[in-house]
Amino acid sequence: MYPNASGGRRGITPARLVLALVIALSSFAGYYFSSQKNEITGETQRVSLTKDQEISLGLQSAPQMIQQYGGESADPKETALVRQIGARLVQQSAARDSGYRFEFHVLADPNTINAFALPGGQVFITQALLRRLRTRGELAGVLGHEIGHVVARHGAEHLAKAKLTNGLVGAVAVGSESQAAAQMAQAVAASVNMKYGREDELESDTLGVRLMAEAGFDPRAMIGVMEVLGEASKGGARQPEFFSTHPNPENRIAKLQALIQQKYPSGVPKGMEK
Ligand SMILES: [Zn+2]
Repeated sequence: MYPNASGGRRGITPARLVLALVIALSSFAGYYFSSQKNEITGETQRVSLTKDQEISLGLQSAPQMIQQYGGESADPKETALVRQIGARLVQQSAARDSGYRFEFHVLADPNTINAFALPGGQVFITQALLRRLRTRGELAGVLGHEIGHVVARHGAEHLAKAKLTNGLVGAVAVGSESQAAAQMAQAVAASVNMKYGREDELESDTLGVRLMAEAGFDPRAMIGVMEVLGEASKGGARQPEFFSTHPNPENRIAKLQALIQQKYPSGVPKGMEK
């Protein structure tokens, strides 16, 4: 299904060709570290990758992430549900015009409560998290938060900050192409495991609430997600990504409540899906 980033064959596969192109282009972009305005968040940000490069990197790194979490779920109903809610969030919100190619995956890991996104639109949720969620709205909350990371380009910002793209371009000059491909995939995978930081998490919460509301989901379900995760961490489960940079979940819930109150001063409209 996906090209294998660390395959033993040395031939030029389409995936490798794409990656070589990405690396060549990002070395060019690295010289012209540009500030760009993000049409969805309205922020000016410094990123050295184009959207197409983000998409290629995400696709290239996806197999490694899938492998790390026990492969894709074998349950077609779970996968269909996650794809359906994900597609609705994208198609009925500002994310539709973002230029990213979203794909939603359920990972077979039954123990690690997690959800994350790769640059360009590859979004993942583990079975362990999915099975704890109580409503479709809560699933929309998790996916909305992850779509938020993608459209806010947090991964690309992270890579730019760490100057990883520049460093790897250097490696291309001296190393073999396949080695560079493996390193690039590794760097992207590492950037996912790195913590984004409090600001990025709060921005993704805010974007998640916005995308949910645009797609007709009750944004209060995002608070439900926080409750589910709070319960899970009490039960001694491994620290979820959602809480990794938030030692105080009550603060985050209070921020969400204030945000929803601000968005809907006279109350959340009736009829939104919970
Ligand atoms: Zn996050």
